[in-house]
Amino acid sequence: MSTFSSYSFKGKKVLIRVDFNVPLNDQFEITDDTRMTATLPTIKKILEEGGSVILMSHLGRPKTGPEDKFSLHHIVYHLVKLLNGATVKFANDCIGAEALEKSAALKPGEVLLLENVRFYKEEEKGDRAFAEKLSKLGDVYVNDAFGTAHRAHASTAIIADFFPADKKMFGLLMNAEVASAEKVLHAAEKPFTAIIGGAKVSDKILIIENLLERATDIIIGGGMAYTFWKAQGKVIGNSLCEDDRMPLALEILAKAKSKGVHIHLPIDSTIADKFAPDAQTTNCESFGIPSGWMGLDIGQKAIADFKEVILKSKTILWNGPMGVFEMEKFQNGTKSIALAVAEATTKGAFSLVGGGDSVAAINKFNLSEKVSYVSTGGGAMLEYFEGKELPGIAAIKNSQLV
Ligand code: AMP
Repeated sequence: MSTFSSYSFKGKKVLIRVDFNVPLNDQFEITDDTRMTATLPTIKKILEEGGSVILMSHLGRPKTGPEDKFSLHHIVYHLVKLLNGATVKFANDCIGAEALEKSAALKPGEVLLLENVRFYKEEEKGDRAFAEKLSKLGDVYVNDAFGTAHRAHASTAIIADFFPADKKMFGLLMNAEVASAEKVLHAAEKPFTAIIGGAKVSDKILIIENLLERATDIIIGGGMAYTFWKAQGKVIGNSLCEDDRMPLALEILAKAKSKGVHIHLPIDSTIADKFAPDAQTTNCESFGIPSGWMGLDIGQKAIADFKEVILKSKTILWNGPMGVFEMEKFQNGTKSIALAVAEATTKGAFSLVGGGDSVAAINKFNLSEKVSYVSTGGGAMLEYFEGKELPGIAAIKNSQLV
């Protein structure tokens, strides 16, 4: 494997796997271009050095081949704008004669965007022959799609087998993602606090188990906290609960105790009489919620508690909201925690925020610039912190030469 910063891209045709899976509205306008802007530094550096770029990505989940609503041609205009008017050509297919001809004709400083790789079922199957066809489009392979690094797909992983070690590398976004995740996983300055929230315990078990080996404190908020309370014999009213996960919650609490990891549960909650923006609300202890009421956010005492832990931390990992932050009445907990993470960062802590909903929350409160790093990978980030080796990363680090 080569490194991006030391490689000379002059005169090279560089095939980059990007994650341009952006949300589009009914008029096919991009409603959030974060995934595109995140990879711009990689593309621009290659173009500035006199290389040309061939971009491949998926968009949405097409089921049976090409469908206009999943066509990447919808994003060409925006890409031109983001690249300050650079020439961006489009190939109506990601393999075959047109793609090959357009790639061969690219001049230094020009870009070719390929059609959606998921128009071929071979992409998600990780088909070798398909990956080999894609590989013919460039001299060098760069993977900058952290968002799909947990998939062993043709364009994210298998394709790396068709490039020798000195012609495959991670892009700048991928490098930054891996560096910040590694810092938290393997070089965290203590105290290290992990804040885990969201709806379900079942989605977060593996990450909590892995963090029990590394963190000094684990804050558990969101809907998943109530399973931990009920498992300890407490009354949680109609709050979210996964009864079948209660034994596991107890196991996690016991394991944490034996390892000296402090688990912090929300002492109080904002409770509601229904799951709706216009619900009646009040505050009560999280372990004594009356029947007919449900905890939809952490309360003031919990916020104060969590804030104290966060402000003492030197490393902070945050995945998952503290409450139903999408509704105004239940956003205070998540917002307060976001502010506390920002404050700790100002005081010198390293903070990494990742996972779809916590990223949406930090953006909603305009705090993304106030934390050390916001990950672009939801599922990929979660799997990284579960301790799994991501196929997209392993493919470049470990793949056999051909
Ligand atoms: P996840 O995708 O597992 O991180 O869960 C995120 C979702 O959990 C968000 O849509 C929140 O609205 C939801 N959530 C957070 N806290 C609660 C809660 N106390 N009760 C129900 N849903 C919640």
